[in-house]
Amino acid sequence: MGRIIVIGIGPGEQAHMTQRAKECLQEADSIVGYSGYVSLLGEEYTQKEILSTGMKREVLRCRLCFEKALEGKVVALICSGDAGVYGMASLVYELSSEYGKVDIEIVPGVTAAASGAAVLGAPINHDFCTISLSDLLTPWELIAKRLQTAAMGDFVITLYNPSSMKRADYLQKACDLLLEILPEDRACGYVKNIGREGTATWTGTLAELRAEQVDMFTTCFIGNSQSFLLDGKLITPRGYRT
Ligand code: SAH
Repeated sequence: MGRIIVIGIGPGEQAHMTQRAKECLQEADSIVGYSGYVSLLGEEYTQKEILSTGMKREVLRCRLCFEKALEGKVVALICSGDAGVYGMASLVYELSSEYGKVDIEIVPGVTAAASGAAVLGAPINHDFCTISLSDLLTPWELIAKRLQTAAMGDFVITLYNPSSMKRADYLQKACDLLLEILPEDRACGYVKNIGREGTATWTGTLAELRAEQVDMFTTCFIGNSQSFLLDGKLITPRGYRT
């Protein structure tokens, strides 16, 4: 029986990959993934069959995994961060009914909210939610509703996919919606290229975040009513001291 292992490789460098992810990559006959992520794996797995596809070819990539698995191969499908957070894990299950019996394993990885939080200090140390600003697969009205209800619920909010070439003003649009509910001085931050070359951090207020230009390799953090900035770090207390 074939096997597909859906692996979250973490934010970037090898040090942030789990032991299980490394073992599975070693065990795999074929490694399938977006070419940008395949190159993050470095030289270690070059003896494997590497099948990389461009962005936005997710369904094709998954079908390729099933085809290879049905040939009896162990296939590693790699995703950045965690495979089940805006990743491919669900699509593999959705497509599985179209194929014969294939064993599926999901290997968790460090998602950008967690790895970015570690760089920024401790911004998600209380209830938080993640919202993706990409409206490729989700209507903007729903994204807007989630932003505003998260703000009303006083959640810390992490924003994935905050911007892209086509969506250059989406972070600004999101901040405008949040500013209808949250104060201008709400503590915020972002991290770019977490665990990769060119890691950069920024902290400031929500009004200042609105004026920032970020790219698609950035994760943004909007604090809750208790969050504060401390020497360039963004901290959300758990409440131990009260
Ligand atoms: N499965 C991934 C998320 C994929 S969605 C995970 O669990 O992390 C893609 C978005 O994730 C990016 O637009 C960015 O907001 C965030 N992201 C992923 N890797 C990142 C990194 N190394 N540095 C900063 N943000 C990252």
